[in-house]
Amino acid sequence: MSQRPFSDRFCAPHGGQWHLRDIDPAETDGLHGKKKVRKEIKQYAQRMRELQYLLYAEGKHSLLIVLQAMDAGGKDGTIRHVLGYMNPQGCHVAPFKVPTDEEKAHDFLWRVHPHAPGRGRVSIFNRSHYEDVLVVRVHDLVPEAQWRRRYDRINDFERLLADNGTTILKFFLHISPQEQLRRFRKRLENPAKQWKISEADYSERRYWDQYQAAYEDAIARCNTKHAPWFIIPADHKWFRNLAVSRIVVETLEGLNMALPPPSVDIDEIRCKYLAELDQAREPDRQ
Ligand code: ADP
Repeated sequence: MSQRPFSDRFCAPHGGQWHLRDIDPAETDGLHGKKKVRKEIKQYAQRMRELQYLLYAEGKHSLLIVLQAMDAGGKDGTIRHVLGYMNPQGCHVAPFKVPTDEEKAHDFLWRVHPHAPGRGRVSIFNRSHYEDVLVVRVHDLVPEAQWRRRYDRINDFERLLADNGTTILKFFLHISPQEQLRRFRKRLENPAKQWKISEADYSERRYWDQYQAAYEDAIARCNTKHAPWFIIPADHKWFRNLAVSRIVVETLEGLNMALPPPSVDIDEIRCKYLAELDQAREPDRQ
């Protein structure tokens, strides 16, 4: 396995011509099999939880995680299996669906901003403001000149959040069309997953190439230092989980957070309440 930080390894290319089709969605960084890495994934997930506790306690930084993918790309699974380790008290998941009439009557960032994380908090976007340069572009929902201007608006918006202490990580969960079809088939076969099926999943497959091109542009134009995009090979769910948790951990470690010092004099509290505290001692076990 590569010792190179995953946040370097899977960061989207900066500049130059590149295509998603040249990035292998089944890559596993030389690792074989989910059983072997299960322990490692758990360790990263647990470390992520400890770091989230620090983030909450320190109250200086916030973290925004953006998840984007083709249908069945694994956004829900990543939230359940990886980000679900976070303490829900400090974590908020915001799904972005087809905009309501009220949302459509405003600018495209209006519905997004209230979900940005406050200090000490984590927000996870299940889809995001990027839909406004993805599905909107593929289906001509607004004139081209309008969606083209949105790349700059998105960069400005993310800059604003970053300047205010928000660390932003954007993950594109990269799957192959064959893997998507396999997952659709599993949904058809599994009664517990049938509720997820929609006809649009199948009809949207016709636009696969247009979506990939829209993703390439969105990623290339909005891959900034303060809000990087990561392209996560996601055909193997276990590798996707490892990569996302590892990148979150690497990033949070880099914030060098520390528990804040107590706001009261601990010795004074101890002396003052000694009698009461003594009563709270665990009774000696026989
Ligand atoms: P998900 O696929 O995320 O689990 P849904 O099946 O409800 O959830 O799909 C949400 C749909 O909302 C997607 O088809 C997505 O493209 C669409 N959507 C999200 N944001 C927008 C937007 N700004 N404009 C148009 N459609 C959007």
